[in-house]
Amino acid sequence: MAHDTLSIIIPVLNEADGLDDLVARLIPVLEGLPLQGWEVLFVDDGSTDATLARLKALNARDLRFKAISLSRNFGKERAIAAGLQHARCDAVVLIDADLQHPPELLADFIRLWRDGYEIVYGQRLDRKTDGVARRWFAKGFYALFHSLSRTNLPDGAGDFRLLDRKAIDAMNQLGER
Ligand code: UDP
Ligand code: MG
Repeated sequence: MAHDTLSIIIPVLNEADGLDDLVARLIPVLEGLPLQGWEVLFVDDGSTDATLARLKALNARDLRFKAISLSRNFGKERAIAAGLQHARCDAVVLIDADLQHPPELLADFIRLWRDGYEIVYGQRLDRKTDGVARRWFAKGFYALFHSLSRTNLPDGAGDFRLLDRKAIDAMNQLGER
């Protein structure tokens, strides 16, 4: 199994204001990883602000930053699915644009991937920054998930994850979201 190239997939809806901070934080992390190459693939999920224009300017400056533009807002899950269809690399990491997923953890993700794990995900350990309704919803979601599914999903496991090529190909064949 090759462990050389990584695509970061970031779904974005009206994130123009935060993109500079995100990119400034990502570059040093990605350049410090033991990889042959990386790219960041943004999926613009029908933004109505300057997101797409900013992404084009970013790509003109640095070809490692790329973007897919969806024709309208499809929701984060389908934006991620579009990213997975286009990623040409040995693994992807899914990450949100708002820096709620600390990119500094990527070094651990890569290390675990090299150890042979095909999926690595980040887990939230506290929800102090969430409102009461959101915390309630999260608690209910994980309780319901556990009651309905035999899949082992630890509480707080979100979208921040690494998928090896094998997992990407399997996801791409599912045809459902
Ligand atoms: N996002 C998207 N399409 C949507 C809603 C959100 O692509 O319809 C993106 C958003 O720009 C961000 C990520 O998905 O990068 C997570 O969104 P948000 O932070 O709003 O979600 P939450 O933190 O509530 O899970
Ligand atoms: Mg968020």
